[in-house]
Parts: sequence; structure tokens; C-alpha cells
Amino acid sequence: MSAEIICVGTELLLGNIVNTNVQYLAQQLADLGIPHYYQSVVGDNPERLQQVIKVAQSRASILIFTGGLGPTPDDLTTETIANLFDTPLLERPEIVRDIAEKFAQRRRQMTPNNRKQALLPEGAEILPNPSGTAPGMIWQPKKDLTILTFPGVPSEMRRMWEETAVPYLKSQGWGEHIIYSRLLKFWGIGESALASKVASFFELQNPTVAPYAMEGSVKLRVSARADSEVSAIQLIKPVAKQLQEIAGLDYVGADEATLASVVGELLRDRGETLSVAESCTGGGLGAMLTEIPGSSAYFRGGVITYSNVVKTSLLGVSQEILAQLGAVSEPVAQQMALGVKEKLDSSWSLSITGIAGPEGGSAYKPVGLVYIGLAAPDDSVEIFEYRFGEARDRATIRYISACHALDRLRRKLLSDS
Ligand code: ATP
Ligand code: MG
Repeated sequence: MSAEIICVGTELLLGNIVNTNVQYLAQQLADLGIPHYYQSVVGDNPERLQQVIKVAQSRASILIFTGGLGPTPDDLTTETIANLFDTPLLERPEIVRDIAEKFAQRRRQMTPNNRKQALLPEGAEILPNPSGTAPGMIWQPKKDLTILTFPGVPSEMRRMWEETAVPYLKSQGWGEHIIYSRLLKFWGIGESALASKVASFFELQNPTVAPYAMEGSVKLRVSARADSEVSAIQLIKPVAKQLQEIAGLDYVGADEATLASVVGELLRDRGETLSVAESCTGGGLGAMLTEIPGSSAYFRGGVITYSNVVKTSLLGVSQEILAQLGAVSEPVAQQMALGVKEKLDSSWSLSITGIAGPEGGSAYKPVGLVYIGLAAPDDSVEIFEYRFGEARDRATIRYISACHALDRLRRKLLSDS
């Protein structure tokens, strides 16, 4: 029991328009809890459209079409479907009347080719189109197969979907389930490493577990199908817990949780505070921290010490070390962390100094070399060296540097408790 979406239109294949219809319908199917495993886009060509339908009807029980219902010769969705199921097209007088009325309202003359839109296969029901001329259809050409057709114009399609198709599907017992998902977020583990650790979970049917990877962060979406949100959550809970246990410290949190929000909660629970000293991230770390409402409870503030002069004047970084080892070095990260911790009187502090590129790298200190300093309440400092690589662009290096800094503190707080 699944649905499949087929979008008809050469414009889509040429990339002239974005297939927003399929996105809308896919979200709608998910909301209704109707499983959906395939989508196709096919041009305005009857043979190829037939091929697509043949395959789709062998694996799905609802086929949803958009596009190709108009009056012109290239609009061939309805007749192609009818031909495939050897069913004659019949002119529906009520559609002819409706189209004629719409033309009259607009003070325009109905042209003969508009009658084409009144042709539907014998046995098909009309899926009315209140805002345009081309209606769609609801048709069961054979047992266990329902066909729904919609015009390509997004606003018409949506209105018809909401007003007629959804109530119809529900009346047929479809869409009584909901799909509910939780997004589990990880940091510090690559997509393939996590995937191999949790590979057996990808076989699950309900809930399902699927991986997502974005710059540096890896996510697992756990989705359950059930008749209520409460029962879906019950299905998800034990699986999410197991995944969390397997990932250990690499697990950050679920759904809305971010590295910054998790660090914030940990600090708040401990009644401790944080300050930051940033060079190459230019305030990005402070921005992440202050994005969290209520962060003033634990975030004291930060300084952007971009130039060497300011590293020295504000944070007391040694001029000799800057001259000898350069700003991107372990001792500078250490002195920045200690300097800001003292100046802003916080329990913890983080510092970041690195080469975000694209220029400024050397063989010895390549673009992407970043030092992160983490100073603890007892003034001990840990330094972490990262080599993010020249292949990453400046924005990415700056972003993941700030993320890694938060992650270092997060791990420290978790293993310290
Ligand atoms: P019409 O009666 O307007 O001809 P139709 O059912 O024949 O409607 P098409 O001719 O395929 O549909 O598309 C009409 C317009 O709808 C297209 O020009 C395009 O702008 C838009 N459209 C078609 N398919 C999609 C789609 N999948 N996603 C977004 N827009 C679409
Ligand atoms: Mg058309």
C-alpha cells in the first residue's frame, strides 16, 4: 500500500521550472502517513509516459499525476492513461458546461480545443478544479489501483488536493496514520563511521532510521508510522535511546538541540559561566552562543582579537611568542583562553586561532590549520589542533571551527560530571 507521484512536463526535464508540485505532494503524503517510495518526471511523450505508468502501477496502489491536463496537443496525460487501460474517453457534459461558464465569466470565447478537457475515461470521477478550467480525475481502472490527476499549475493543484483529494483518500481509509520523526544529531563522528556502527538499524521497518550528513554534522532521522503521535513517540523512544547509547559522546541531542544549546544547558545546570576569545571566527562562536535565548545566564561575553596588537593589549598574549611562533600556534591559543577567562571572570573559556584562507597558508601552516583552547576553572588549558584542509572554503572553516570549540567544551563538561 503506497503512493507514487508522476509529474508530466518537458519543461521539468529541461530544468525550466522547479518541481514544486512534487515537494508539496511529498510533504502532504508524509503528513497523511501514506507511504511513498518513488517519484518520476517524464516529458510530454505518450510512449514514455506509458512506460512510467506501467512500472508505477506494478508497485504502488495510488498514482498521483500532475501536469498535462490542458487543452493543447502536448497535454496528453488523461488520454495516455485511458489508452493504457484500454478505456474509451467520454465527453462529460457537466465539464463542458463548467468550462463554458468560466469562459463566459471572463468574457472570453471558448475555443473548440477546450472541449478536450471535458474528456475523461469511462468510469472516472471528476476531480473539480474551482480555480482553473482543467479538472482532474479520480479513477480506479482496476482493483487496488487508484489514479488521481491534477493540472500542473501549482495553485490549482493544491486547492484540488486539499478540497477533494484528501477527503477522498481519507474516506477510502488512507491517510489515517501519521508519520512522526525525531532528528538525532551527532558531532565528531563521520557519516560512514556512524553508519557502520548503527547499520543494523537501517533495516528497521517501523520506525525507520535514515542518515543525513551536512558540513561536519551527521544526523539520523528516526520516523515512525502510527495512528497517533503518542504511539509514534513510543515506537521511536527505545530506538533513539539505543542509537544514543551506541554513539556515546558523539551524540549531541535531538530535534531543536544544537551544540550551543547543549553546552548552555550543561553550564546552566552546573551554575558555571563561559567566555570566548576569537580570532579567525570573528565572533561566530559568540553568535552561536547568543543565538540561544537565556544565554546571558552562563555566557559572560567574548572578544574578537583579530590583530596581534589586540591579542597582546586585551588578552596579554606575549609579543615574543607572536613574533616567534605566529598567531596560529598552540601557545597563542592557550594565552588567549587564559587571558579572556581572567578578563571576563568566567569559569570556562574557549579560544580559536587559525587560518581560514583562502590566502595566508604555507607548507608549514596550511589553510585550515586551527587551534582551539579550552581553559577549565582550575586554569588548566587543553589545546586541540585541527587541520580542516585547503579544500574547505573560508566560510566552512570558520563555521566548523566554532562548532568544534563548542563540542570540545561539551565533551569536557559531560565527562567531567
Ligand atoms: P494548463 O491547463 O495550464 O496547460 P496543465 O495541467 O496542462 O495545465 P502543464 O501545461 O504541464 O499543466 O503546466 C502548466 C504550468 O504549471 C507550467 O507552465 C508550470 O509553470 C506549472 N507546472 C507544471 N508542472 C509543475 C510542477 N511539477 N511543479 C511546479 N510547477 C509546475
Ligand atoms: Mg498545459
